[in-house]
Amino acid sequence: MADVVVVGGGTAGCAVAAHLCAVTDARVTLLEAGDQFDHHPVNLFTSMSRPGVLDTSLVVSAIDHGERYGYLQAQVLGGGSAVNGLIVLPGAIDDFNEWCERDGLSEWSWDHVAPWFDIVATPTSLVDETSHSSVAQLLSDAWSKARPVPLALVSASRQSADSDAFRHAQATGRLSLRLQTAVSRIRFTGSRATGVDLVDGSLVEASCVVVCAGALRTPILLRQSGVDISGLGENLQDHPNIMFTGKRRVPFVEQVPISRYVAFKSDGDASAPDVAHVLGYEQIDAEGKLAGIGVSLMDVYSRGAIVESSTGAWTADFRCLSDARDRKVFVDIVRQVATEVVEQDLEATFHATDARHLSDVLTFLVTKSDEKVSSWLDHNVRTLSHAAGTCAMGVVCDGKGRVADIDDLWVADASLMPRIVRANTNETVAMMATRVSQFVAETLEG
Ligand SMILES: Cc1cc2nc3c(=O)[nH]c(=O)nc-3n(C[C@H](O)[C@H](O)[C@H](O)COP(=O)(O)OP(=O)(O)OC[C@H]3O[C@@H](n4cnc5c(N)ncnc54)[C@H](O)[C@@H]3O)c2cc1C
Repeated sequence: MADVVVVGGGTAGCAVAAHLCAVTDARVTLLEAGDQFDHHPVNLFTSMSRPGVLDTSLVVSAIDHGERYGYLQAQVLGGGSAVNGLIVLPGAIDDFNEWCERDGLSEWSWDHVAPWFDIVATPTSLVDETSHSSVAQLLSDAWSKARPVPLALVSASRQSADSDAFRHAQATGRLSLRLQTAVSRIRFTGSRATGVDLVDGSLVEASCVVVCAGALRTPILLRQSGVDISGLGENLQDHPNIMFTGKRRVPFVEQVPISRYVAFKSDGDASAPDVAHVLGYEQIDAEGKLAGIGVSLMDVYSRGAIVESSTGAWTADFRCLSDARDRKVFVDIVRQVATEVVEQDLEATFHATDARHLSDVLTFLVTKSDEKVSSWLDHNVRTLSHAAGTCAMGVVCDGKGRVADIDDLWVADASLMPRIVRANTNETVAMMATRVSQFVAETLEG
């Protein structure tokens, strides 16, 4: 029997396994539905195009009554960190102070979490690609404050959750890793979690279960296991995103997918958390022929839910822009971005036909009424694959990640965020998972 079984070997699951092996003598079993790779490509599109590394089987809608599509989720050791866009931005100071003050999570103020961000700190590089035909150059021409975004790269190699710390954990001999092993439900004895059932029908017993299946799969697994806590699967959040794309004038030859970044702050206050981001994607395909400009709303008030249909199928309804504050700000920001970009020399970056098409779309967004832009957003908005919030601390779990009213059952992944941070989520998830595993470690020792 394992001391701890961890369900899901993504960003959070790898961090939990690594920290528990580093600070305790526990025997940890990590169960991951996907496979393992020696290394992961730097480019997210090349990384995602490997067979089997994605789970797109969960159908979602970004907008109420909107088009349904398969959500991009990792299914591989390393999880999102093995396929993502490499952007490393910790949540804002105010994000955590709000968790503390508004959600009553006294141990998650910035002062509490800052040392844990230092512990997990992913090594980064700044890649400053500003050739004439780059999107980076276009963004720099439009915004003098455009700057290179920190990417999880060392010597051109992706830094993922299954890298160094995880390999150290494997070297202890106390980590048992089982790949292509999907969990079907959590086992209980009375009100205690005592193990998990696998899809193949076998059982893995443990003194303690830590669920890290991601913000969409974790609440579904808990529900399928009979957990029925008010708020479970609700409070679903992601960052709404619009991508303006076009064929590049010349193919991009580097591996780096994303280079420059522009942050929009409320009232132009440099110390305020970001309201929105613009990112320059040097390539949004594996061949480097397509480039993009992504506009994302980072300060999000809309809430969605994971929903079970009468036939037992699960969907995720993000309900992006359902809160009037989000819709108003996103209409304004998209129009602002369109205004800046349409004034640039688009043909320096994009193939002439695509530059003209892009210019038409941007001109539409600049000149039409708020209602028309809003309706255009309804047809075009997607999200950044930053799903969060479905087992929120203070609602479904306590401030240490323990599932309410159940002993020895923890959640340690993106589901725990009471409110999605105003930044890309991976670094915050790694920090939270490491912190929760410290709480687990203290319980094991106590
Ligand atoms: C395409 C993409 C691009 C992104 N870009 C960025 C970026 O540039 N920067 C950034 O900060 N964030 C980015 N993110 C988001 C970030 O990667 C996620 O927030 C983070 O990975 C979430 O970590 P997690 O541990 O909660 O879930 P995941 O990392 O998704 O891990 C969940 C793991 O659980 C496994 N699993 C699920 N169900 C089961 C089961 N029943 N049994 C066993 N295993 C199971 C899955 O296979 C998966 O490996 C991106 C995400 C994606 C998908």
